[in-house]
Amino acid sequence: MHLNPYGEDAVKLAAKLANRRPASGTELAHCCQAAGLLMDQPVTQQDVDRTWAVLDEWEKVVDTTDERERAALVNRMLTAAAAHPRLTDHGGGGWHLHYRDDGQPLGSVLSALIPVATALHLVGPGMHRLGRCAVDGCTMIFADTSRLGRQRYCSQRCANRDAVRRHRARTARPEHASGPA
Ligand SMILES: [Zn+2]
Ligand SMILES: [Zn+2]
Repeated sequence: MHLNPYGEDAVKLAAKLANRRPASGTELAHCCQAAGLLMDQPVTQQDVDRTWAVLDEWEKVVDTTDERERAALVNRMLTAAAAHPRLTDHGGGGWHLHYRDDGQPLGSVLSALIPVATALHLVGPGMHRLGRCAVDGCTMIFADTSRLGRQRYCSQRCANRDAVRRHRARTARPEHASGPA
């Protein structure tokens, strides 16, 4: 199984890593493996540190709603990770394109994978399709891959929570506040 190169899987992986930052190489490797990413070498603490630095930059992309600023921040990440694109058929997954050199540690793989995948996500499905949950007190990030592109919550659980809260706010209103009878 190979990660759909630079598709939505990689943006979702970025969100997953940002929402629950991996504390160790083992944890980071586990997350990437679960997302189908092939790893050619052992994952070290250096990879974890590099990943956290990439995620710090990436969260700035998430937290701006201004399209131009969002594009500029992604471009900055792309510049930092720039390498020659190359064809590869490693892991028996068939020929596909890498936007990085061969034999890179996981930290630098992610530093290229995350901005390229984010760029493709933003120019494909839409520039606005990245954000944080609309529920007060929930800071979870989501990549909106829904059909309509109007996702506001990180999960169905948060959507339900907010619906209940709005319903309570309506019903808690004093009778006379709802207008003349
Ligand atoms: Zn590959
Ligand atoms: Zn949420």
